[in-house]
Amino acid sequence: MFSNLERRFRDVIADINETLIGISLDPRLMPNSAGHLDVAQRSVRSCASTPSLRSRDGTVPPHARTDPGGNVRVVVRVRAFLPREIERDAECLIHMDPVSQQTTLLVPTDNDPANARARSRKVMEEKSFTFDNSFWSHDTEDEHYATQEDVYDSLGEEFLDHNFEGYHTCIFAYGQTGSGKSYTMMGTPDHPGLIPRTCEDLFERIAAAQEETPNISYNVRVSYFEVYNEHVRDLLVPVVPHQAPYYLKIRESPTEGPYVKDLTEVPVRSLHEILRYMRIGDNNRTVASTKMNDTSSRSHAVFTIMLKQIHHDLETDETTERSSRIRLVDLAGSERAKSTEATGARLREGSNINKSLTTLGRVIAALADPKQQRARPGSSAARKDTSVVPYRDSILTWLLKDSLGGNSKTAMIACIAPSDYEETLSTLRYADQAKRIRTRAVVNQ
Ligand code: ADP
Repeated sequence: MFSNLERRFRDVIADINETLIGISLDPRLMPNSAGHLDVAQRSVRSCASTPSLRSRDGTVPPHARTDPGGNVRVVVRVRAFLPREIERDAECLIHMDPVSQQTTLLVPTDNDPANARARSRKVMEEKSFTFDNSFWSHDTEDEHYATQEDVYDSLGEEFLDHNFEGYHTCIFAYGQTGSGKSYTMMGTPDHPGLIPRTCEDLFERIAAAQEETPNISYNVRVSYFEVYNEHVRDLLVPVVPHQAPYYLKIRESPTEGPYVKDLTEVPVRSLHEILRYMRIGDNNRTVASTKMNDTSSRSHAVFTIMLKQIHHDLETDETTERSSRIRLVDLAGSERAKSTEATGARLREGSNINKSLTTLGRVIAALADPKQQRARPGSSAARKDTSVVPYRDSILTWLLKDSLGGNSKTAMIACIAPSDYEETLSTLRYADQAKRIRTRAVVNQ
């Protein structure tokens, strides 16, 4: 299905490299007088009918889908062993059930020095967790090895179905630095991840639908920003050497919830264009990160695609619109959250940098609370409970308010390393709590 994606990805990289050498930037990427790019109008109209956009071939994917049933979908992915782990003969602490694909076992290690701390504290014991799906990527020889395509087929494809039905969606990757979050979300040119695969599938569906139903037109726009140290930075605005970064403000609208004011949203008409903006954003992130002492593992990257379906009724000559948002988030390394347990200067740095991640933990805990779950949407109990969910305590959780406990179908990918007991246990516990959250997604009308 994605035989061309790797090649196109490489073309885009070559194209971007040329662009970034300074020959020319797309005119739409040149800041306007306010210092920002073309800012999208937020859509308020929507349409009632759901067009059937794509026929399925009926084959069962190797990693079966599970019905999200209103809950946040939680899946776990264990990454491949890295060369340094193979070199030190690291033991594998993860066992996944290849049949149900739902059980993840974390087992104690006997003598891996890397886990000596957990062993000496006698905290190591076998732990079992159940998630909606588990992706087995640590044994490349195993027949159940989950490729990037398997992850997309099992999760990304269905979420894109929801977008065409008119739902907002959000997929975020959580885990310690080096656990495979960027690999899963962005991937590499040879192994594209969820974001480029979603982009490819999106434009393939649009092309197919335009042939089948020419009275529906599509408008796709993208934005890309990062949250670092409680500041929002627009990744589609070029980084200007020797100039302090420009930070954007958050606002909240009664109809659309929190949003980033003046965030660049660019229209895109093809896979090539969207991949190009993705690479420009990535590149800006890397440039800023290098300037600021490798912040990328401590920042949260949020790639958003806005899809608008415009339906022109040929009989009545009326036009209706349906809008949905696809949010794909690569979170900062979760081990940083624990550095807030440190003291002194480290504590100050940690608490600032990790405010978003620690608050995300508190938001998840509050939303997973059974009292919150029992409250009927819209009831005074729900309003009361919502007010105690600390969304506004950090920039990231404020911006993801809708995606976490609101109008969105949401999935968390818990990324884990195959041989780190303590960090993995902490990630699996976090994920275990997240699976109790129920979102209240509705079709945007
Ligand atoms: P993170 O974003 O969590 O810091 P990365 O995505 O950068 O971690 O992954 C760390 C390293 O592990 C990278 O070299 C990446 O290519 C590799 N890696 C991660 N997940 C996988 C996987 N499923 N299969 C193969 N290699 C992987």
